[in-house]
Amino acid sequence: MLRDRIEQLEARVRRAAARSGRRAEGITLLAVTKLFPAAVIRQAYELGLRRFGESYVQEFETKAAGLGELAEARFHLIGHLQSNKSRRAAQRFDVIETLDSARLARRLEEVPAALRRSGPARLEVMLEVKLSPEEAKSGAGVEDLPALVEAVRACPSLELTGLMTMPPWSEDPEESRPYFRRLRELAGRFGLTKLSMGMSHDLEVAIEEGATEVRVGTALFGPRAER
Ligand SMILES: *Cc1c(COP(=O)(O)O)cnc(C)c1O
Repeated sequence: MLRDRIEQLEARVRRAAARSGRRAEGITLLAVTKLFPAAVIRQAYELGLRRFGESYVQEFETKAAGLGELAEARFHLIGHLQSNKSRRAAQRFDVIETLDSARLARRLEEVPAALRRSGPARLEVMLEVKLSPEEAKSGAGVEDLPALVEAVRACPSLELTGLMTMPPWSEDPEESRPYFRRLRELAGRFGLTKLSMGMSHDLEVAIEEGATEVRVGTALFGPRAER
């Protein structure tokens, strides 16, 4: 039952926070609903969840039609964003966590406030950082960050709040720790306070390393169908 899984997950977050001398209230739970139907988002909302992560602009557009009015729901884009979909992303999402180029920042900056989901408020963005040389992985390289941070901060319609990363998948959560630690160091260097890191299998390690947001799919909703 989803209700039980939410409780178990919140308990994991509380324990990890307590162990690291942190307040659990400082850690946002992002429920990752990619590839699950709108009914699952509605059910999670009824059970009190408010932040949802989606990976594909088009899939979310299709689902949004069946969502109805969830007044307090906030949606984060956590999948790679192509610049030709930037307008559609700004229309649908409250937070874009996967900004990884100055070109994409300029495209988001160009979306008129009247079209943005954030309206006259700035659109919140985070930079996705690629910390491993793995192929086929999006995100900005560490060496590109200084220029990228500067470019995003020069966009008056965007509010840069933090960094996001996804380490190479490993069964052993300890393998993620060096990546999380590195992300935290980088955020500090640029004066950024939000850290989106940690998923179902490694969220405890992420919280110990300072995560302010964990992105959890499987532990809440079970296995996903392949895309
Ligand atoms: C799918 C996804 C998640 C959730 O992963 P789980 O292992 O199901 O918790 C988190 N972050 C990103 C970027 C994802 O694509």
